[in-house]
Amino acid sequence: QLSGAKFESGIPVDFSKVETRLLPTVLLIGRPNVGKSALFNRLIRRREALVYNTPNDHVTRDIREGIAKLGDLRFKVLDSAGLEAEASSGSVLGRTAEMTAKVLRVSNFALFLVDARDGLQPMDLDVGKWLRKHAPGIKIIMVMNKAESLDDGIGSVAAAAGEARTLGFGDPIALSAETGLGMNDLYEVLRPLLEERMLQIVNEPANETTEDCESCEEEDSKLPLQLAFVGRPNVGKSTLLNALLQEDRVLVGPEAGLTRDSVRVEFEFEGRTVYLVDTAGWLQRTKSEKGASSLSIVQSKKNLMRAHVVALVLDGEEVSKARKSLTSDEVVIARRAIEEGRGLVVIVNKMDLLKDKLYDRVIKAVPEEIQSIIPQVTGIPIVFVSALEGKGRIDVMHHVVETYKKWCLRLSTARLNRWLLKVMSRHSWKDLASQPKVKYFTQVKARPPTFVAFVKGKKGLSDTDLRFLTRSLKEDFDMGGIPVRIMQRKEE
Ligand code: GDP
Ligand code: GDP
Repeated sequence: QLSGAKFESGIPVDFSKVETRLLPTVLLIGRPNVGKSALFNRLIRRREALVYNTPNDHVTRDIREGIAKLGDLRFKVLDSAGLEAEASSGSVLGRTAEMTAKVLRVSNFALFLVDARDGLQPMDLDVGKWLRKHAPGIKIIMVMNKAESLDDGIGSVAAAAGEARTLGFGDPIALSAETGLGMNDLYEVLRPLLEERMLQIVNEPANETTEDCESCEEEDSKLPLQLAFVGRPNVGKSTLLNALLQEDRVLVGPEAGLTRDSVRVEFEFEGRTVYLVDTAGWLQRTKSEKGASSLSIVQSKKNLMRAHVVALVLDGEEVSKARKSLTSDEVVIARRAIEEGRGLVVIVNKMDLLKDKLYDRVIKAVPEEIQSIIPQVTGIPIVFVSALEGKGRIDVMHHVVETYKKWCLRLSTARLNRWLLKVMSRHSWKDLASQPKVKYFTQVKARPPTFVAFVKGKKGLSDTDLRFLTRSLKEDFDMGGIPVRIMQRKEE
Protein backbone atom coordinates (compact mmCIF):
# COMPACT_ATOMS: atom_id res chain seq x y z
CA GLN A 1 0.00 0.00 0.00
CA LEU A 2 1.47 3.31 -1.07
CA SER A 3 1.11 6.16 1.34
CA GLY A 4 1.17 9.80 0.35
CA ALA A 5 3.69 11.72 2.41
CA LYS A 6 3.16 15.44 2.67
CA PHE A 7 5.09 18.60 2.20
CA GLU A 8 6.12 20.13 5.47
CA SER A 9 3.83 22.96 4.56
CA GLY A 10 1.03 20.43 4.38
CA ILE A 11 0.52 20.44 0.63
CA PRO A 12 1.25 17.07 -0.95
CA VAL A 13 3.08 17.25 -4.26
CA ASP A 14 1.05 15.99 -7.15
CA PHE A 15 3.87 14.70 -9.30
CA SER A 16 1.59 14.02 -12.22
CA LYS A 17 1.11 17.79 -12.54
CA VAL A 18 4.79 18.66 -12.48
CA GLU A 19 6.27 19.54 -15.84
CA THR A 20 8.53 16.78 -17.05
CA ARG A 21 11.59 18.93 -17.30
CA LEU A 22 11.30 20.03 -13.68
CA LEU A 23 11.13 16.51 -12.29
CA PRO A 24 14.09 15.39 -10.14
CA THR A 25 16.59 13.03 -11.74
CA VAL A 26 17.64 9.66 -10.38
CA LEU A 27 20.65 7.81 -11.79
CA LEU A 28 20.97 4.03 -11.70
CA ILE A 29 24.57 3.02 -11.11
CA GLY A 30 26.47 -0.16 -10.29
CA ARG A 31 28.80 -2.70 -11.80
CA PRO A 32 27.64 -4.60 -14.91
CA ASN A 33 24.92 -7.19 -14.49
CA VAL A 34 23.46 -6.06 -11.21
CA GLY A 35 20.17 -5.33 -12.96
CA LYS A 36 20.24 -1.61 -13.75
CA SER A 37 18.51 -2.05 -17.07
CA ALA A 38 15.97 -4.40 -15.55
CA LEU A 39 15.11 -1.81 -12.89
CA PHE A 40 15.03 0.96 -15.47
CA ASN A 41 12.57 -1.00 -17.56
CA ARG A 42 10.38 -1.71 -14.56
CA LEU A 43 10.34 1.95 -13.57
CA ILE A 44 9.45 3.32 -16.96
CA ARG A 45 7.19 0.37 -17.81
CA ARG A 46 6.24 0.67 -21.41
CA ARG A 47 6.88 4.31 -21.74
CA GLU A 48 9.27 5.51 -24.35
CA ALA A 49 12.89 5.92 -23.35
CA LEU A 50 15.06 8.58 -24.88
CA VAL A 51 18.44 7.34 -25.87
CA TYR A 52 21.27 9.78 -25.60
CA ASN A 53 24.30 8.98 -27.64
CA THR A 54 27.09 10.29 -25.53
CA PRO A 55 30.07 10.78 -27.71
CA ASN A 56 33.31 9.83 -26.07
CA ASP A 57 36.52 9.34 -27.99
CA HIS A 58 34.51 9.12 -31.19
CA VAL A 59 32.54 6.17 -29.92
CA THR A 60 29.02 6.72 -28.76
CA ARG A 61 27.47 5.15 -25.75
CA ASP A 62 23.90 5.17 -24.82
CA ILE A 63 22.41 6.61 -21.73
CA ARG A 64 18.74 5.96 -21.54
CA GLU A 65 16.43 8.45 -19.95
CA GLY A 66 12.84 7.81 -19.14
CA ILE A 67 10.08 9.08 -16.90
CA ALA A 68 9.73 6.72 -13.99
CA LYS A 69 6.36 6.01 -12.48
CA LEU A 70 6.34 4.54 -9.01
CA GLY A 71 2.96 4.73 -7.36
CA ASP A 72 2.07 8.41 -7.64
CA LEU A 73 5.72 9.42 -7.87
CA ARG A 74 7.22 10.67 -11.10
CA PHE A 75 10.88 11.29 -11.70
CA LYS A 76 13.44 11.21 -14.46
CA VAL A 77 15.51 8.07 -14.40
CA LEU A 78 18.85 7.59 -16.13
CA ASP A 79 20.26 4.17 -16.88
CA SER A 80 24.03 4.27 -17.01
CA ALA A 81 24.34 0.65 -18.20
CA GLY A 82 25.39 1.73 -21.67
CA LEU A 83 28.35 3.56 -20.20
CA GLU A 84 30.22 0.53 -19.10
CA ALA A 85 30.39 -1.22 -22.41
CA GLU A 86 34.12 -0.69 -22.34
CA ALA A 87 34.75 -1.22 -18.68
CA SER A 88 38.02 -2.98 -18.42
CA SER A 89 38.84 -5.38 -15.64
CA GLY A 90 41.31 -2.90 -14.22
CA SER A 91 38.91 -0.08 -13.55
CA VAL A 92 35.28 -0.74 -13.26
CA LEU A 93 34.07 2.34 -15.02
CA GLY A 94 36.87 2.22 -17.53
CA ARG A 95 37.17 5.11 -19.89
CA THR A 96 33.59 6.00 -19.25
CA ALA A 97 34.21 7.28 -15.73
CA GLU A 98 34.36 10.84 -16.98
CA MET A 99 31.09 10.47 -18.82
CA THR A 100 29.45 8.92 -15.78
CA ALA A 101 30.71 11.78 -13.64
CA LYS A 102 29.04 14.19 -16.04
CA VAL A 103 25.77 12.32 -15.86
CA LEU A 104 26.05 12.23 -12.10
CA ARG A 105 26.29 16.01 -12.02
CA VAL A 106 22.88 16.38 -13.62
CA SER A 107 21.35 13.86 -11.24
CA ASN A 108 19.80 14.66 -7.87
CA PHE A 109 19.92 11.13 -6.49
CA ALA A 110 21.63 7.87 -7.35
CA LEU A 111 20.49 4.33 -6.75
CA PHE A 112 23.61 2.23 -6.20
CA LEU A 113 22.72 -1.32 -7.17
CA VAL A 114 24.40 -4.48 -5.92
CA ASP A 115 23.48 -8.11 -6.48
CA ALA A 116 21.96 -9.61 -3.32
CA ARG A 117 22.57 -13.12 -4.56
CA ASP A 118 26.24 -12.77 -5.41
CA GLY A 119 27.19 -10.85 -2.30
CA LEU A 120 29.61 -7.95 -2.54
CA GLN A 121 32.21 -8.15 -5.28
CA PRO A 122 35.47 -6.21 -5.51
CA MET A 123 33.91 -4.20 -8.33
CA ASP A 124 31.11 -3.06 -6.01
CA LEU A 125 33.73 -1.68 -3.66
CA ASP A 126 35.33 0.14 -6.59
CA VAL A 127 32.03 1.70 -7.56
CA GLY A 128 31.45 2.71 -3.93
CA LYS A 129 34.85 4.32 -3.70
CA TRP A 130 34.33 6.10 -6.97
CA LEU A 131 30.94 7.43 -5.86
CA ARG A 132 32.32 8.74 -2.59
CA LYS A 133 34.92 10.65 -4.53
CA HIS A 134 32.76 11.94 -7.37
CA ALA A 135 29.33 12.38 -5.86
CA PRO A 136 29.81 14.09 -2.52
CA GLY A 137 26.68 16.24 -2.84
CA ILE A 138 24.38 13.57 -4.15
CA LYS A 139 22.22 11.38 -1.97
CA ILE A 140 23.09 7.75 -2.69
CA ILE A 141 20.59 5.03 -1.92
CA MET A 142 21.79 1.42 -1.69
CA VAL A 143 19.70 -1.11 -3.52
CA MET A 144 20.12 -4.88 -3.21
CA ASN A 145 18.65 -6.25 -6.37
CA LYS A 146 17.68 -9.84 -7.14
CA ALA A 147 16.49 -10.16 -3.54
CA GLU A 148 13.72 -12.55 -4.56
CA SER A 149 16.36 -15.27 -4.84
CA LEU A 150 17.20 -14.94 -1.16
CA ASP A 151 13.86 -16.48 -0.32
CA ASP A 152 14.95 -19.61 -2.11
CA GLY A 153 17.39 -20.40 0.64
CA ILE A 154 20.44 -18.99 -1.14
CA GLY A 155 21.06 -16.57 1.70
CA SER A 156 19.29 -14.36 4.13
CA VAL A 157 18.21 -10.79 3.51
CA ALA A 158 19.66 -9.72 6.83
CA ALA A 159 23.11 -11.12 6.06
CA ALA A 160 23.14 -9.56 2.58
CA ALA A 161 21.96 -6.25 4.00
CA GLY A 162 24.68 -6.32 6.63
CA GLU A 163 27.24 -6.78 3.92
CA ALA A 164 25.82 -4.01 1.73
CA ARG A 165 25.83 -1.65 4.70
CA THR A 166 29.61 -1.94 4.89
CA LEU A 167 29.79 0.11 1.68
CA GLY A 168 28.90 3.08 3.84
CA PHE A 169 25.76 4.34 2.13
CA GLY A 170 23.30 3.37 4.83
CA ASP A 171 20.59 0.73 4.94
CA PRO A 172 19.95 -0.99 1.65
CA ILE A 173 16.56 -1.52 0.09
CA ALA A 174 16.04 -5.15 -0.86
CA LEU A 175 14.13 -5.51 -4.09
CA SER A 176 13.74 -7.49 -7.24
CA ALA A 177 13.62 -5.66 -10.53
CA GLU A 178 12.41 -8.87 -12.07
CA THR A 179 9.46 -9.68 -9.81
CA GLY A 180 8.68 -6.23 -8.40
CA LEU A 181 9.32 -7.31 -4.84
CA GLY A 182 10.31 -4.39 -2.61
CA MET A 183 9.25 -1.64 -5.01
CA ASN A 184 7.03 -0.21 -2.27
CA ASP A 185 10.08 0.11 -0.01
CA LEU A 186 11.81 2.03 -2.76
CA TYR A 187 8.76 4.27 -2.93
CA GLU A 188 8.82 4.94 0.81
CA VAL A 189 12.45 5.97 0.67
CA LEU A 190 12.16 8.09 -2.48
CA ARG A 191 8.93 9.90 -1.70
CA PRO A 192 10.24 12.28 0.99
CA LEU A 193 13.48 12.86 -0.91
CA LEU A 194 11.74 13.74 -4.16
CA GLU A 195 9.21 15.93 -2.38
CA GLU A 196 11.94 17.83 -0.65
CA ARG A 197 13.70 18.32 -3.95
CA MET A 198 10.53 19.62 -5.62
CA LEU A 199 10.04 21.99 -2.71
CA GLN A 200 13.57 23.29 -3.22
CA ILE A 201 12.96 23.84 -6.89
CA VAL A 202 9.76 25.73 -6.37
CA ASN A 203 10.73 27.48 -3.19
CA GLU A 204 14.34 28.45 -3.65
CA PRO A 205 15.06 31.26 -1.20
CA ALA A 206 15.85 34.66 -2.58
CA ASN A 207 19.32 35.18 -1.29
CA GLU A 208 20.51 31.97 -2.87
CA THR A 209 19.59 33.04 -6.33
CA THR A 210 22.56 34.25 -8.24
CA GLU A 211 23.34 37.94 -8.28
CA ASP A 212 22.98 40.12 -11.33
CA CYS A 213 24.19 38.37 -13.61
CA GLU A 214 26.29 39.16 -16.63
CA SER A 215 28.89 36.79 -15.26
CA CYS A 216 26.79 33.70 -14.80
CA GLU A 217 25.00 34.30 -18.04
CA GLU A 218 28.40 34.33 -19.66
CA GLU A 219 29.39 31.17 -17.93
CA ASP A 220 26.27 29.28 -18.89
CA SER A 221 26.25 30.35 -22.47
CA LYS A 222 29.88 29.35 -22.87
CA LEU A 223 28.94 25.74 -22.44
CA PRO A 224 28.85 23.97 -25.79
CA LEU A 225 25.74 24.81 -27.72
CA GLN A 226 23.85 21.74 -28.86
CA LEU A 227 22.14 22.48 -32.12
CA ALA A 228 19.79 20.31 -34.16
CA PHE A 229 18.83 20.97 -37.75
CA VAL A 230 15.49 19.39 -38.45
CA GLY A 231 13.17 19.40 -41.40
CA ARG A 232 11.68 17.33 -44.13
CA PRO A 233 13.89 15.58 -46.68
CA ASN A 234 15.22 17.81 -49.46
CA VAL A 235 14.67 21.14 -47.79
CA GLY A 236 18.43 21.65 -47.87
CA LYS A 237 19.66 20.74 -44.40
CA SER A 238 22.78 18.98 -45.63
CA THR A 239 23.64 21.78 -48.03
CA LEU A 240 23.26 24.31 -45.25
CA LEU A 241 25.35 22.28 -42.85
CA ASN A 242 28.08 21.71 -45.35
CA ALA A 243 28.19 25.44 -45.94
CA LEU A 244 28.54 25.99 -42.21
CA LEU A 245 31.23 23.38 -41.83
CA GLN A 246 33.24 24.64 -44.75
CA GLU A 247 33.61 28.06 -43.30
CA ASP A 248 33.89 27.42 -39.63
CA ARG A 249 36.57 25.60 -37.76
CA VAL A 250 35.55 21.99 -37.63
CA LEU A 251 36.77 20.52 -34.38
CA VAL A 252 35.50 17.04 -34.94
CA GLY A 253 34.13 15.91 -38.25
CA PRO A 254 32.38 12.84 -39.47
CA GLU A 255 34.77 10.00 -39.99
CA ALA A 256 34.63 7.31 -42.59
CA GLY A 257 33.44 3.98 -41.36
CA LEU A 258 31.42 5.22 -38.48
CA THR A 259 27.87 4.11 -38.32
CA ARG A 260 25.26 6.72 -38.99
CA ASP A 261 24.37 6.87 -35.33
CA SER A 262 27.81 7.76 -34.19
CA VAL A 263 28.44 10.81 -36.29
CA ARG A 264 29.66 13.61 -34.12
CA VAL A 265 30.29 17.02 -35.50
CA GLU A 266 31.67 19.88 -33.52
CA PHE A 267 32.71 23.24 -34.81
CA GLU A 268 33.58 26.62 -33.53
CA PHE A 269 31.60 29.74 -34.28
CA GLU A 270 33.05 33.02 -33.03
CA GLY A 271 34.89 31.28 -30.25
CA ARG A 272 31.98 29.19 -29.18
CA THR A 273 31.82 25.42 -29.44
CA VAL A 274 28.80 24.19 -31.31
CA TYR A 275 27.90 20.54 -31.18
CA LEU A 276 25.58 19.36 -33.89
CA VAL A 277 23.00 16.94 -32.67
CA ASP A 278 22.79 14.41 -35.42
CA THR A 279 19.34 14.05 -36.79
CA ALA A 280 19.33 10.59 -38.26
CA GLY A 281 22.42 10.59 -40.34
CA TRP A 282 22.02 13.65 -42.52
CA LEU A 283 25.68 13.66 -43.28
CA GLN A 284 25.72 10.18 -44.71
CA ARG A 285 22.93 11.18 -46.90
CA THR A 286 24.95 13.76 -48.71
CA LYS A 287 27.63 11.23 -49.38
CA SER A 288 25.35 8.44 -50.43
CA GLU A 289 23.26 8.34 -53.56
CA LYS A 290 20.18 10.43 -53.47
CA GLY A 291 17.30 8.59 -51.92
CA ALA A 292 19.52 5.94 -50.39
CA SER A 293 18.23 6.89 -47.02
CA SER A 294 15.46 9.26 -46.38
CA LEU A 295 15.37 11.41 -43.35
CA SER A 296 12.14 10.97 -41.58
CA ILE A 297 10.68 13.76 -39.58
CA VAL A 298 9.71 11.25 -36.94
CA GLN A 299 13.35 10.49 -36.29
CA SER A 300 14.02 14.17 -35.97
CA LYS A 301 11.47 14.50 -33.23
CA LYS A 302 13.39 12.17 -31.00
CA ASN A 303 16.46 14.35 -31.25
CA LEU A 304 14.75 17.55 -30.22
CA MET A 305 15.27 16.82 -26.57
CA ARG A 306 19.00 16.64 -26.97
CA ALA A 307 19.25 20.04 -28.55
CA HIS A 308 19.38 23.40 -26.82
CA VAL A 309 18.37 25.17 -29.99
CA VAL A 310 16.32 23.62 -32.76
CA ALA A 311 16.76 25.03 -36.25
CA LEU A 312 13.71 24.11 -38.30
CA VAL A 313 14.54 24.29 -42.00
CA LEU A 314 11.77 24.96 -44.52
CA ASP A 315 11.93 24.89 -48.30
CA GLY A 316 11.08 28.41 -49.49
CA GLU A 317 10.00 27.20 -52.89
CA GLU A 318 7.55 24.75 -51.36
CA VAL A 319 6.30 27.48 -49.07
CA SER A 320 5.60 29.76 -52.02
CA LYS A 321 3.50 27.08 -53.69
CA ALA A 322 1.52 25.84 -50.73
CA ARG A 323 -1.53 27.33 -49.15
CA LYS A 324 0.08 26.98 -45.74
CA SER A 325 3.71 27.76 -45.09
CA LEU A 326 4.23 24.78 -42.84
CA THR A 327 3.16 21.20 -43.38
CA SER A 328 1.50 19.42 -40.48
CA ASP A 329 4.78 17.65 -39.68
CA GLU A 330 6.59 20.93 -39.49
CA VAL A 331 3.91 22.38 -37.24
CA VAL A 332 4.37 19.42 -34.90
CA ILE A 333 8.14 19.91 -34.79
CA ALA A 334 7.90 23.64 -34.13
CA ARG A 335 5.33 23.25 -31.37
CA ARG A 336 7.10 20.31 -29.83
CA ALA A 337 10.40 22.20 -29.69
CA ILE A 338 8.78 25.02 -27.74
CA GLU A 339 6.78 22.69 -25.52
CA GLU A 340 9.94 20.82 -24.64
CA GLY A 341 11.56 24.10 -23.68
CA ARG A 342 13.99 24.36 -26.59
CA GLY A 343 14.99 27.53 -28.36
CA LEU A 344 13.60 27.69 -31.90
CA VAL A 345 15.00 29.32 -35.02
CA VAL A 346 13.15 28.95 -38.30
CA ILE A 347 15.20 28.91 -41.49
CA VAL A 348 13.56 29.39 -44.86
CA ASN A 349 15.95 28.04 -47.48
CA LYS A 350 16.13 28.17 -51.29
CA MET A 351 15.20 31.85 -51.38
CA ASP A 352 17.30 32.10 -54.58
CA LEU A 353 14.48 30.33 -56.43
CA LEU A 354 11.98 33.02 -55.57
CA LYS A 355 11.52 36.25 -57.42
CA ASP A 356 9.58 39.43 -56.79
CA LYS A 357 6.03 38.75 -55.70
CA LEU A 358 6.65 35.20 -54.58
CA TYR A 359 9.66 36.33 -52.59
CA ASP A 360 7.64 39.02 -50.86
CA ARG A 361 4.81 36.65 -50.19
CA VAL A 362 7.04 34.11 -48.46
CA ILE A 363 8.72 36.75 -46.35
CA LYS A 364 5.35 37.90 -45.14
CA ALA A 365 3.57 34.55 -44.82
CA VAL A 366 6.07 32.57 -42.75
CA PRO A 367 6.28 34.93 -39.75
CA GLU A 368 2.49 35.25 -39.68
CA GLU A 369 2.00 31.54 -39.69
CA ILE A 370 4.67 30.84 -37.09
CA GLN A 371 2.99 33.37 -34.82
CA SER A 372 -0.38 31.76 -35.30
CA ILE A 373 0.79 28.23 -34.58
CA ILE A 374 2.88 29.27 -31.56
CA PRO A 375 0.93 32.22 -30.17
CA GLN A 376 2.52 31.91 -26.73
CA VAL A 377 6.00 32.88 -27.95
CA THR A 378 6.58 36.07 -29.85
CA GLY A 379 9.71 37.00 -31.71
CA ILE A 380 10.86 33.58 -32.92
CA PRO A 381 13.72 34.39 -35.31
CA ILE A 382 13.03 33.59 -38.94
CA VAL A 383 15.98 33.65 -41.30
CA PHE A 384 15.67 33.63 -45.09
CA VAL A 385 18.66 32.05 -46.79
CA SER A 386 20.05 30.33 -49.82
CA ALA A 387 22.29 27.49 -48.73
CA LEU A 388 23.24 26.82 -52.32
CA GLU A 389 24.56 30.31 -52.86
CA GLY A 390 26.01 30.42 -49.38
CA LYS A 391 23.83 33.38 -48.43
CA GLY A 392 22.63 33.82 -44.87
CA ARG A 393 25.00 31.38 -43.25
CA ILE A 394 26.30 33.92 -40.75
CA ASP A 395 22.77 35.16 -40.07
CA VAL A 396 21.70 31.65 -39.19
CA MET A 397 24.48 31.23 -36.67
CA HIS A 398 23.95 34.68 -35.18
CA HIS A 399 20.31 33.98 -34.56
CA VAL A 400 21.11 30.56 -33.15
CA VAL A 401 23.65 32.04 -30.73
CA GLU A 402 21.34 34.92 -29.72
CA THR A 403 18.58 32.44 -29.01
CA TYR A 404 20.96 30.31 -27.00
CA LYS A 405 22.08 33.28 -24.91
CA LYS A 406 18.49 34.16 -24.08
CA TRP A 407 17.83 30.55 -23.26
CA CYS A 408 20.70 30.69 -20.73
CA LEU A 409 19.66 34.01 -19.20
CA ARG A 410 19.63 34.35 -15.43
CA LEU A 411 18.10 37.34 -13.68
CA SER A 412 18.72 38.13 -10.06
CA THR A 413 15.86 38.15 -7.63
CA ALA A 414 16.61 41.74 -6.67
CA ARG A 415 16.31 42.89 -10.27
CA LEU A 416 13.18 40.84 -10.84
CA ASN A 417 11.44 42.30 -7.83
CA ARG A 418 12.32 45.86 -8.82
CA TRP A 419 10.79 45.00 -12.15
CA LEU A 420 7.75 43.47 -10.46
CA LEU A 421 6.98 46.72 -8.63
CA LYS A 422 6.94 48.62 -11.89
CA VAL A 423 5.00 46.08 -13.83
CA MET A 424 2.29 45.75 -11.21
CA SER A 425 1.29 49.32 -11.85
CA ARG A 426 1.04 48.78 -15.59
CA HIS A 427 -1.64 46.12 -15.48
CA SER A 428 -5.30 46.70 -14.86
CA TRP A 429 -5.79 43.86 -12.46
CA LYS A 430 -9.35 42.64 -12.52
CA ASP A 431 -9.60 42.13 -8.85
CA LEU A 432 -8.59 45.52 -7.53
CA ALA A 433 -9.13 44.68 -3.90
CA SER A 434 -6.32 42.16 -3.95
CA GLN A 435 -4.15 44.18 -6.28
CA PRO A 436 -0.66 43.50 -4.93
CA LYS A 437 -1.21 39.84 -5.45
CA VAL A 438 2.29 38.87 -6.42
CA LYS A 439 4.42 39.23 -3.34
CA TYR A 440 7.62 38.05 -4.74
CA PHE A 441 9.15 36.85 -7.96
CA THR A 442 12.21 34.72 -8.57
CA GLN A 443 13.97 32.73 -11.27
CA VAL A 444 14.38 29.11 -10.28
CA LYS A 445 16.08 27.84 -13.38
CA ALA A 446 17.77 28.80 -16.62
CA ARG A 447 18.08 26.84 -19.86
CA PRO A 448 15.22 27.70 -20.45
CA PRO A 449 14.35 30.48 -17.99
CA THR A 450 11.74 29.42 -15.48
CA PHE A 451 10.23 31.68 -12.84
CA VAL A 452 8.05 31.37 -9.81
CA ALA A 453 5.58 34.00 -8.68
CA PHE A 454 4.66 33.81 -5.02
CA VAL A 455 1.06 34.82 -4.85
CA LYS A 456 -1.00 35.88 -1.88
CA GLY A 457 -4.34 34.25 -1.44
CA LYS A 458 -5.83 30.95 -2.45
CA LYS A 459 -7.24 32.10 -5.73
CA GLY A 460 -3.95 32.92 -7.32
CA LEU A 461 -3.37 34.61 -10.63
CA SER A 462 -5.80 34.20 -13.47
CA ASP A 463 -4.56 32.99 -16.84
CA THR A 464 -4.85 36.54 -18.12
CA ASP A 465 -2.69 37.86 -15.30
CA LEU A 466 -0.10 35.14 -15.89
CA ARG A 467 -0.05 35.88 -19.59
CA PHE A 468 0.44 39.54 -18.85
CA LEU A 469 3.35 38.82 -16.53
CA THR A 470 4.96 36.47 -19.02
CA ARG A 471 4.59 38.93 -21.86
CA SER A 472 5.97 41.84 -19.84
CA LEU A 473 8.89 39.78 -18.60
CA LYS A 474 9.80 38.77 -22.11
CA GLU A 475 9.53 42.30 -23.45
CA ASP A 476 11.38 43.97 -20.62
CA PHE A 477 14.25 41.49 -20.58
CA ASP A 478 14.37 40.83 -24.29
CA MET A 479 13.52 37.17 -24.08
CA GLY A 480 11.61 36.91 -27.35
CA GLY A 481 11.73 33.68 -29.27
CA ILE A 482 12.24 31.32 -26.39
CA PRO A 483 9.84 29.50 -24.13
CA VAL A 484 9.61 31.26 -20.77
CA ARG A 485 7.64 29.68 -17.97
CA ILE A 486 6.11 31.27 -14.94
CA MET A 487 4.73 29.03 -12.25
CA GLN A 488 2.77 30.35 -9.33
CA ARG A 489 2.95 29.34 -5.76
CA LYS A 490 -0.04 30.28 -3.70
CA GLU A 491 0.31 31.29 -0.11
CA GLU A 492 -2.34 32.01 2.47
P1 GDP B 1 22.87 -4.21 -15.91
O1 GDP B 1 24.10 -4.65 -16.62
O2 GDP B 1 23.19 -3.73 -14.54
O3 GDP B 1 22.01 -3.29 -16.68
O4 GDP B 1 22.01 -5.56 -15.64
P2 GDP B 1 20.76 -6.16 -16.45
O5 GDP B 1 19.54 -5.38 -16.14
O6 GDP B 1 21.13 -6.34 -17.85
O7 GDP B 1 20.62 -7.56 -15.70
C1 GDP B 1 21.66 -8.50 -15.70
C2 GDP B 1 21.06 -9.89 -15.50
O8 GDP B 1 20.44 -9.99 -14.23
C3 GDP B 1 19.99 -10.22 -16.53
O9 GDP B 1 20.13 -11.57 -16.89
C4 GDP B 1 18.69 -9.99 -15.77
O10 GDP B 1 17.66 -10.81 -16.27
C5 GDP B 1 19.07 -10.39 -14.37
N1 GDP B 1 18.27 -9.70 -13.37
C6 GDP B 1 17.98 -8.38 -13.30
N2 GDP B 1 17.21 -8.12 -12.23
C7 GDP B 1 16.99 -9.29 -11.60
C8 GDP B 1 16.25 -9.67 -10.44
O11 GDP B 1 15.64 -8.88 -9.75
N3 GDP B 1 16.28 -10.99 -10.10
C9 GDP B 1 16.96 -11.92 -10.82
N4 GDP B 1 16.92 -13.16 -10.43
N5 GDP B 1 17.65 -11.59 -11.93
C10 GDP B 1 17.67 -10.31 -12.33
P1 GDP C 1 18.21 17.64 -47.06
O1 GDP C 1 17.49 16.41 -47.44
O2 GDP C 1 17.33 18.54 -46.25
O3 GDP C 1 19.54 17.41 -46.41
O4 GDP C 1 18.45 18.46 -48.40
P2 GDP C 1 19.75 18.60 -49.34
O5 GDP C 1 20.75 19.48 -48.69
O6 GDP C 1 20.20 17.25 -49.73
O7 GDP C 1 19.14 19.40 -50.54
C1 GDP C 1 18.12 18.86 -51.37
C2 GDP C 1 18.18 19.49 -52.74
O8 GDP C 1 17.93 20.89 -52.65
C3 GDP C 1 19.57 19.36 -53.37
O9 GDP C 1 19.39 19.11 -54.74
C4 GDP C 1 20.20 20.72 -53.14
O10 GDP C 1 21.14 21.06 -54.12
C5 GDP C 1 19.01 21.62 -53.21
N1 GDP C 1 19.20 22.84 -52.43
C6 GDP C 1 19.64 22.94 -51.15
N2 GDP C 1 19.71 24.23 -50.76
C7 GDP C 1 19.30 24.97 -51.82
C8 GDP C 1 19.16 26.39 -52.04
O11 GDP C 1 19.41 27.24 -51.20
N3 GDP C 1 18.70 26.76 -53.27
C9 GDP C 1 18.42 25.86 -54.24
N4 GDP C 1 18.00 26.33 -55.40
N5 GDP C 1 18.54 24.53 -54.06
C10 GDP C 1 18.98 24.08 -52.87
